[in-house]
Amino acid sequence: MKIIDAKVFIGGPAKNYVTLKIMTDQGVYGLGDATLNNRETLPAAYLQDYLIPNLIGLDPRRSEDIWQFFYRGAYFRRGPIAMAAFGAIDMALWDIKGKLANMPVYELFGGLSRDGAMVYAHATGSDLEDLMDSISHYVEQGYKAVRVQCGIPGMPTASYAVPEHKGEGKHYITDFAGIRPKVEVWDTDKYLRYMPDALAEIRDRFGPDLKILHDVHHRLLPREAAEFAKAVEPARLFWLEDPTPAEDQNALRMIRQHSTTPIAIGEVFNSVWDCNRLIEDELIDFIRIAVTYGGGITPVKRIVDLAGLHNVRTGFHGAPSHSPISMAAQSHLNAWAPNFGIQEYLVLGTPECDALFPSDHRMDNGMIHVSDAPGLGVDFDETEAKRYSYKPGSHPVVRLQDGTMWNY
Ligand SMILES: [Mg+2]
Repeated sequence: MKIIDAKVFIGGPAKNYVTLKIMTDQGVYGLGDATLNNRETLPAAYLQDYLIPNLIGLDPRRSEDIWQFFYRGAYFRRGPIAMAAFGAIDMALWDIKGKLANMPVYELFGGLSRDGAMVYAHATGSDLEDLMDSISHYVEQGYKAVRVQCGIPGMPTASYAVPEHKGEGKHYITDFAGIRPKVEVWDTDKYLRYMPDALAEIRDRFGPDLKILHDVHHRLLPREAAEFAKAVEPARLFWLEDPTPAEDQNALRMIRQHSTTPIAIGEVFNSVWDCNRLIEDELIDFIRIAVTYGGGITPVKRIVDLAGLHNVRTGFHGAPSHSPISMAAQSHLNAWAPNFGIQEYLVLGTPECDALFPSDHRMDNGMIHVSDAPGLGVDFDETEAKRYSYKPGSHPVVRLQDGTMWNY
């Protein structure tokens, strides 16, 4: 059995999804997602210029060897561009493997471990009352877990994932006005003074059962993050996300020494080497690596297994930059993983998105139910794809009030 061709498509409804389709000489094909948010053309170029010419003629069933061939063969290892490109190939090869076995991919991991996988939605508000309305909207739809972000009084601009005006609802981060990013201005002191009481009010309003998550989005220094994690303990968060920039693994030790608030980190990680110490030293509670930037199912499943040995649960990244293909790959891991925690989920299910990526994966009452179709259980409509093309866009950058560049 041989790979005879592979194609890359860029585009989608309100997103630049990078979709890989690998064709075989037996008519079976596989799909993968290489979408690297706001840098989408780069993994696409890596696939087209280097990886696809080397894929042609290989046996698609040898997914482990093909992953090692590209990872070790590149000499310069890791990095989100390369890992997203490898990730798309790996997903497509697991898709082919499942179709050949006539089994959903989760069966190849060890089968279902649960009936459905809990997800969390994104509630957001220009101020706390606006946020309360947004949380109610999701609770009424049956969501059991909600990430909460709101405007901070006196903050110079709207900050991460917060709308500028009341009632704007969704805020999808990427701005397609052009390639130059908007600037958000950040004030740590105002955030630290306001947010702990706001989270406690949300807990009071919605009672003990709602799972409340909050994303700091890398804005704090390690000592500030430790202070904040301790200050939000009365809100009993399900998790506190990305309290500090992820590349400093020592920062997480400082937080752990001062607080029992559960910590989730890793959406920008692309290798086990970004998080092995965090997992082995049990400094985090949830690992957020994504199957796309993490290099595909093959390496991410190894991280899930390592995490399981140390009581670290999964909480895969699921921003709208993930196409339904990588969300499907993560859904298969979520269905199987004994240490599953939660899945981030932003509504992908628009009619346009469903038409481009038809599937039987379904969301019901705050839970994802994985399709039992062979492979990843998601298809790609090439006729529909002709409606879309690449649109340049950017997410904001962050500066302090004196102009110092800060962490987005
Ligand atoms: Mg996040």
